[in-house]
Amino acid sequence: MNNIHGHCACGAVELMIKEYGNFVYTCHCDTCRRINSGPVLSVDPGLKENVEFLHGAEKITIYHDEDVERGFCSVCGSTLFWHDPKENHYCMNAELFDDVIQSASFALELFYDMKPAYYGFEGQRKRLDRNFQEIHE
Ligand SMILES: [Zn+2]
Ligand SMILES: [Zn+2]
Repeated sequence: MNNIHGHCACGAVELMIKEYGNFVYTCHCDTCRRINSGPVLSVDPGLKENVEFLHGAEKITIYHDEDVERGFCSVCGSTLFWHDPKENHYCMNAELFDDVIQSASFALELFYDMKPAYYGFEGQRKRLDRNFQEIHE
């Protein structure tokens, strides 16, 4: 897929991923769950060069979480992205991109060892713990 458009809930922030395969992953870590009221579902477009902010960049609020930046729409509060400036790496809220979630495969669960017991996703997929070691159940 190319030039995939996304936007936050209120539409103030519009962005685009230039090129992407239909792959969604989730993160069960404490911070993602606290911020998003559950495990965040994300896409990994990789380098900053693959991401374009089309509109509303000035509306983005950044939370500096240790070495990474977490970006939100300052109007509606939508989670926009996770950004590691050192690695020049972006991951974005998959739910911003209607075209991705129509056909995406759900292929990976991160920080699976931090997942609370009360929920779980159906089906089998790759699961990694907080040290990025694969979990076999
Ligand atoms: Zn918004
Ligand atoms: Zn997380």
